[in-house]
Amino acid sequence: MTLAEVSSESDGEPLKKVKALVIGAGTSGLRAAEVLIQAGCEVKVLEARDRIGGRIATSSKLGLPLDLGANWIHGNIGNPILAIAESAGSSYSMDELDDTIVFAADGSLLPKRMGNEVVTKMWDYFEEGIIYSAQNAATIQSGISFMDYYKEKVAAEGWDEERSAYQIQVADLLGNIVATEIRKQDFRNLHMEEPIPGDNLFLSSTYGPVMDLMAQTVLKTEGCLELDKPVKAVETVQTPNGPVHSVYTKDGEVYTADAVLCSIPLGSLKQDRVKFKPPIPEKIRQSIKHLGYGSLEKTYITFPKAFWKDGASYFAFLADPATDSDRRSIAAISLAHIPEPYAQPTLLFYTHGETSKQITSILQFSSSEEEARAKILTFFHPYISKLHNYSPTDPDCVPRDYISTNWLNDEYAGNGSYTNFPVGLVDGVDDVKTIEAGVEELKLWFCGEHTAPLLGLASVSGAYWAGEIAAKKCLGAFGIGTEAMVVGGGVAVEGIAPV
Ligand SMILES: Cc1cc2nc3c(=O)[nH]c(=O)nc-3n(C[C@H](O)[C@H](O)[C@H](O)COP(=O)(O)OP(=O)(O)OC[C@H]3O[C@@H](n4cnc5c(N)ncnc54)[C@H](O)[C@@H]3O)c2cc1C
Repeated sequence: MTLAEVSSESDGEPLKKVKALVIGAGTSGLRAAEVLIQAGCEVKVLEARDRIGGRIATSSKLGLPLDLGANWIHGNIGNPILAIAESAGSSYSMDELDDTIVFAADGSLLPKRMGNEVVTKMWDYFEEGIIYSAQNAATIQSGISFMDYYKEKVAAEGWDEERSAYQIQVADLLGNIVATEIRKQDFRNLHMEEPIPGDNLFLSSTYGPVMDLMAQTVLKTEGCLELDKPVKAVETVQTPNGPVHSVYTKDGEVYTADAVLCSIPLGSLKQDRVKFKPPIPEKIRQSIKHLGYGSLEKTYITFPKAFWKDGASYFAFLADPATDSDRRSIAAISLAHIPEPYAQPTLLFYTHGETSKQITSILQFSSSEEEARAKILTFFHPYISKLHNYSPTDPDCVPRDYISTNWLNDEYAGNGSYTNFPVGLVDGVDDVKTIEAGVEELKLWFCGEHTAPLLGLASVSGAYWAGEIAAKKCLGAFGIGTEAMVVGGGVAVEGIAPV
């Protein structure tokens, strides 16, 4: 049934459109709004920031646009974001970024073959761990971390001490996936990290054009989107005609709606950034508490020239906690290796967990931009100085500028990056499903990367699916059908939203 059919059934009553209010204009909120608009609802999207996109954001501070949040399309099989990216004319990198070299903690370069073996094994253990935990979740003891499992795998290999140490040290890099130290990642729930199948594509042309397309329906709908509207409370009263929501923004405005779809990040839900009256049910509150919210930050450092260009494109810098307790192993990608016209003399460093806190504390507590710059560049200097062709006297090896993200201090990103699954978590699948179910009787639903179908959790693709699922639930609750499903710009997406 279409909305018009539903409305005209009410015996000559004037047509009343369902009024839906979406909180947040990130991937999930925008997709939810799009589906609701296509089904004929009157949709309002309230966004706290002065921009759309949420944890997708680009900056041109260094010249060409760079992604501050998401950069990868994880899994190119059945991934709706790929269809949108194709339609946006995106350019990807994949194999270009695979040429790996690994530096040992003492600065020496591991032989190429050994470096590849160490990194490949790391991924193998991750994939095997996901499969093992999926098959044995019921019997894996609570409190076991992925690192415990990983160390057992290393011990079983029978390698000498040095080889084993490399394999253990490189494991830190997986923290860039789970957005925390892997000793804090629950092993029983590791299967929740299972990615969408296929290859991982680095969007050389950034997520910017993809976001533009995802936002198109909302942007074209007059009066739909309001920026600079942080929501502080949602108050719901039941009436004979169903629930009525009053949504309060920080600037004192009040919006009314028949349904609310809340897409603020899990980190924001954890901090009660939006107050609900009546409070959201205890079971949902508990699930919000159980799931973890991680930190991942990106630092781009640009140079006059890519002095490392004739070498590898992916660098792993191992750290030995026994000799340097402040450092963890970290990784960097060379943007000089991505296709033209996006190639640039820039390195992208990823940090997570405690290391990302070191970086964001510099940004937060430095008294000037110069001080922050000096401290950030000092932090990364030991890595940069190991690179191929580096010379302290060569002006091409002196950083020209940098950008470092600060999601940890970003209230509207929930003070972090994305959902993860901390040691001791009992049943993460149940928690995700509990939040995703929302509060049907109040016509209140949650969406975002934290309510995604399991294959897409914590990703852009998952956030997109989650928005669509929440919108369909909302439409279902009003008896409205959802046959026509196209994304902004009329891109048809196949195989959308596995539930
Ligand atoms: C550094 C980093 C790297 C990442 N890399 C990748 C990657 O390569 N690939 C990938 O797939 N995923 C990646 N992710 C994850 C991905 O970015 C997120 O999963 C996805 O963008 C989340 O979308 P969302 O709609 O759930 O949330 P958001 O994009 O966070 O949207 C929520 C929106 O709600 C708004 N909001 C918050 N509070 C309020 C309020 N009170 N009132 C009104 N509005 C509010 C926010 O401003 C925001 O716009 C990365 C994330 C980070 C931080």
